[in-house]
Amino acid sequence: MKVKVDDLEFEKMISFEAIEKRTAELGAILTEQYQDSLPVFLGVLNGCFVFMADLVKQVPVPCQIAFMKLSSYRGGLESTREIIEELDLKIDIAGRDVILVEDIVDTGNTLRYLVDKLRALKPKSIKVCALLYKPDAMEHEIPEMQYIGFEIENKFVVGYGLDYKEQGRNLKDIYQLVK
Ligand code: 5GP
Repeated sequence: MKVKVDDLEFEKMISFEAIEKRTAELGAILTEQYQDSLPVFLGVLNGCFVFMADLVKQVPVPCQIAFMKLSSYRGGLESTREIIEELDLKIDIAGRDVILVEDIVDTGNTLRYLVDKLRALKPKSIKVCALLYKPDAMEHEIPEMQYIGFEIENKFVVGYGLDYKEQGRNLKDIYQLVK
């Protein structure tokens, strides 16, 4: 099935059912790992909002949920590499187990920046849970990346929270650009 988002055409890549199944698997792992530690799920907005909502419902342990906002794509197809921090962290993560929730890791620039920034705040641990990961685009070694939903090809994707020109975030499934 194809959809048009603004001026571009996309085709279905990952169905909501597959996302739901994988999210439940990740949730089961996190539930076991973070049973007694009151972890902080820290989401990176805007893209993570749908995944975060579905993920935390699969992790029935006491936890806190917070968000930060960063952007490097500014609505287009390519990362600008310049990271803009629009909403700072409001919660004290010193001594806490932090699970950084990302929609997608592409070059890893955003994640590298974020992990370094969070490490300076002295959490007990930082682990990254990313729904999508493009291994061929990755430019960094990030050992904190422990929980991955799907490894995908180096193609631009939309849906399930991810946008093109701020549109397409409400698509239930994930779609890739038709070239
Ligand atoms: P990175 O810093 O890893 O290159 O890029 C991270 C950010 O770029 C993600 O959080 C996401 O906002 C955006 N991004 C990377 N790849 C894609 C993609 O295929 N589609 C969309 N919509 N955003 C992407």
